[in-house]
Amino acid sequence: MEYRADGAAQAAAALHFLCTELPTRTLGTEGNRRATQFVEAHLAASGWRTERQVFDCLEWLYAGANLSAGEAEWPVLPGPWSLPCNVEAALFACATVEEIEAAPDLSGRILLLHGPITAEQLMPKRFPFYNPDEHQRIYTAVESKRPAAVVAATARNPSLAGGIYPFPLFEDGDFDIPSAYMTDVEGVRLLAAAPALVRLEVCSQRRPTTGWNVVARKGSSFASPIVLCAHIDAKKGTPGALDNAAGVVTLLLAAELLSAYEGEQGVEVVIFNGEDNYAAAGEIEYLRRLGPAVRNVRFAINVDGAGNRDNAIAWSLYGCPPMIEERVRANLIERPNFVEGEVWYQSDHAMFVQAGVPALAFTTDNFAQVWAQIAHTAADTPELVDCGALVGLAHTIHHIVHVIVAG
Ligand SMILES: [Zn+2]
Repeated sequence: MEYRADGAAQAAAALHFLCTELPTRTLGTEGNRRATQFVEAHLAASGWRTERQVFDCLEWLYAGANLSAGEAEWPVLPGPWSLPCNVEAALFACATVEEIEAAPDLSGRILLLHGPITAEQLMPKRFPFYNPDEHQRIYTAVESKRPAAVVAATARNPSLAGGIYPFPLFEDGDFDIPSAYMTDVEGVRLLAAAPALVRLEVCSQRRPTTGWNVVARKGSSFASPIVLCAHIDAKKGTPGALDNAAGVVTLLLAAELLSAYEGEQGVEVVIFNGEDNYAAAGEIEYLRRLGPAVRNVRFAINVDGAGNRDNAIAWSLYGCPPMIEERVRANLIERPNFVEGEVWYQSDHAMFVQAGVPALAFTTDNFAQVWAQIAHTAADTPELVDCGALVGLAHTIHHIVHVIVAG
């Protein structure tokens, strides 16, 4: 398939491939590898020099989970990345971290977490960019009591988990206690039944594999590159159209528009592979390779969650020198279908901002709604994406790159 940068139809075809033809783009899966091969081929076809940044990661396979006591059953889901288990044990329920800390040794028991302690999804243990102390305290408390498994009963909480209910309290390949999760309603039912023993079975497997970021370059000097980035991975169970096949397709279109670019200023397209991974594996690998030179990146543009039909594209600027800010702003303000949005840090621009790099992020104006109702769910399908808007965004990125190159 050939890209024409004016072609919304080509964008739609690429979205279809990434979201519908591939079964999943979760890091570690065959679908993820095929997705990265697809973007490599397109970037190369647009005249970019491509490189793979390969790293180790896990693939997680699962067949389901069961929680029962005699004839009674409670619907549970396997905790993402959970190790397998098949254990019959007494339940021990805790609603706060203090209750876990005060509990006896829980070896041979199943820990049921419910109530306030399950209010929000825990950041993974080794997640590098954002990791609240109270989450670390919960991991430490649970691990010190050594339960055979953990079952978490969770309510609806879009602020960290997106639009899923129930949400997994643990989503962490570095957490080695088997886990499952259920709705808060089922948790109440389980507590009321107070069975002496329950059987928890989690059928799953962790398998070591590899993934890679795709980095594509144009220009000759990379001492201070301009970076255009979008993440290609998606959570399990979502087609990931807005989050973030749309961002990847936008960069493929922008790369096509820049196919004739041969300036000295280096431009990098970085297709990150780990934004929705518990360890942010691709982002960590990119930063590891770059080292302190990340501070020399001249300007970073990130696209994540942009292009929702009937909604404007929201842009936000971070840490720009006044001259650059003025020019970029002047370019964006005159564009129909673009609005200045609030600053946000839940995506790949944040690591550049943290390093003091000027950055520009694009998402959708109804970001909060998409995050609460659509992100990370089966509802994030290509029909939600306005491919014409992606073409408009690609042209905008192309213009901004020239604004930055011109200094
Ligand atoms: Zn995303």
